[in-house]
Amino acid sequence: MTDIWIMRIGHRPQRDKRVTTHVALSSRALGAKGMYVDTADRILEENVRSVCDRFGGDFEISTGVNWKDRIKEFDGIVVHLTMYGQKMDEALPKIPDGRDMMIVVGAEKVPPEVYERADMNVSVGNQPHSEIAALSIFMYALTNGRSLYKDRNGRFTVIPNERGKTVAEVPK
Ligand code: SAM
Repeated sequence: MTDIWIMRIGHRPQRDKRVTTHVALSSRALGAKGMYVDTADRILEENVRSVCDRFGGDFEISTGVNWKDRIKEFDGIVVHLTMYGQKMDEALPKIPDGRDMMIVVGAEKVPPEVYERADMNVSVGNQPHSEIAALSIFMYALTNGRSLYKDRNGRFTVIPNERGKTVAEVPK
């Protein structure tokens, strides 16, 4: 299986702290290997690592990453999610197999250069909505949701339950 990385551009630590945390957690749940964030944000890193520490897996987060350099160095397909892009359903069959992917999502207005540097600009509908929704729908369609119930060998494992909460805890 190939790796999926997220590049979050335009993160403003105060204003976007919840949304960027949810971009990280949603992409982790859907099977991303890790996320890069352009603005340095130690608290964001700590919050995401704390979830990984409890629920397992090897998701990585790095902040203060120069997006231009990261995209240039990346050995794989760079997909920018934008409401202006080509239709997701038309883009998905064009994505080559066996290559790692970097999915770029914005916060505020994304610099025009991102559209040029990405290999593909892909829309999840042509209405403005949210980076969390766009990323989750795109990743679900890309992977068929295969990571959603994958065991991450965490300290806590949720056992699916029709009613109530069942959580298994592995002692440290
Ligand atoms: N006004 C901003 C712009 O023009 O770039 C949009 C900001 S939007 C709140 C944040 C991010 O959500 C976008 O950069 C894009 O990655 C994602 N997004 C929002 N709607 C989308 C859509 N319909 N399809 C794909 N991505 C979308």
